[in-house]
Amino acid sequence: MKQGHNKRERKETKQVRAGNLLIGGDAPVSVQSMTNIPLEDVKGTIEQIKQLERKGAELVRLAVRKEENVSHLKKIISAVNVPLCADIHFNHRIAVESIKAGINKVRINPGNIGSPERVKEVVRAANDNGIPVRIGVNGGSIDKKKYSNVTPENLVESAIEHVQILEDNNFNDIVVSIKSSDVFMNIAANRLFSDKRDYPLHIGLTEAGFGTSCIIDSSVTIGHLLMQGLGDTIRVSMTGDPVEEITIGKKILESVGERFPAVKIISCPTCGRTDPELNILKIARDLESAVCSEFEQILIEKNHMLTLAVMGCEVNGPGEASEADFGLAGARHGEMLLFAKGEKSARVKSDEAVFALIKEIRKYVSTQLCK
Ligand code: SF4
Repeated sequence: MKQGHNKRERKETKQVRAGNLLIGGDAPVSVQSMTNIPLEDVKGTIEQIKQLERKGAELVRLAVRKEENVSHLKKIISAVNVPLCADIHFNHRIAVESIKAGINKVRINPGNIGSPERVKEVVRAANDNGIPVRIGVNGGSIDKKKYSNVTPENLVESAIEHVQILEDNNFNDIVVSIKSSDVFMNIAANRLFSDKRDYPLHIGLTEAGFGTSCIIDSSVTIGHLLMQGLGDTIRVSMTGDPVEEITIGKKILESVGERFPAVKIISCPTCGRTDPELNILKIARDLESAVCSEFEQILIEKNHMLTLAVMGCEVNGPGEASEADFGLAGARHGEMLLFAKGEKSARVKSDEAVFALIKEIRKYVSTQLCK
């Protein structure tokens, strides 16, 4: 199956560049995360950034809390390839020094960086070094003196107020994030902001929790916005290992057709019709892992997706299995039917099914993709 079969309409935003990563405009939606190790632990931070990069992170953010951290930052920048964003609050000098150290993007909140003169210094440094600035407004840190309660309108007004400070300094390489831990508030605020400005949007829930609820709330929020054409870079905020954030973020992008996996497994939940001798979950997992280890690289190179169905019985199984590129459908007595490109090709014992299907896929890849 070819890429791009269900591409969504996307709002055209201004494009900015962070290192080798383009954000906004016609650039693909990127996935990012943030380290959760103090910068003083240079070795650990470098290792975590590399893990994130291996998993597919396209930008990694780091909290730079103290001026002394800039020396750590320099070592980290020289040791990794993925673009880095420095997250800075309260002290404009840290932002300026991080920019001079070679950071690819800064995230600030102009409201807490100090006087207009200080904001101007950060903007001048960003301009001189050609890096974008992300304005991040969060429900939890909105100015309580100014805004008595957190509403989408107040979040957007606060964001616009901050954006205006940069615009007043003739700076437009801006990325905006407006986050709340509430799904509805988050979606409404991003839609409202998008009606007012064309800057690229960094989207995601903030303080989204952990585990299943975080995955579902983040997927609903990010997925909903993406399907409405909003969002240029995403971050799933999850308590725990940031590497997980990348795995989930990439899956969300696949769900909305923004990316496509090399291998897509279609499997049924099984029911009382499944022959008790068949372990459909194990077969589906074994098939995915065998196909990925042998063919994933070539599928990525050829920009090709394989759909593989693993179905529990002969009622719905043959239909789905023949719709997919390759498939297995449970039969009786621990046997399975094999399907290749819509045709039933064999009936085998279940413990031979994965091996037999791999042989069919190998034939297809060598004759059709590698000719
Ligand atoms: S494909 Fe068959 S085994 Fe699977 S859920 Fe449907 S009816 Fe049940």
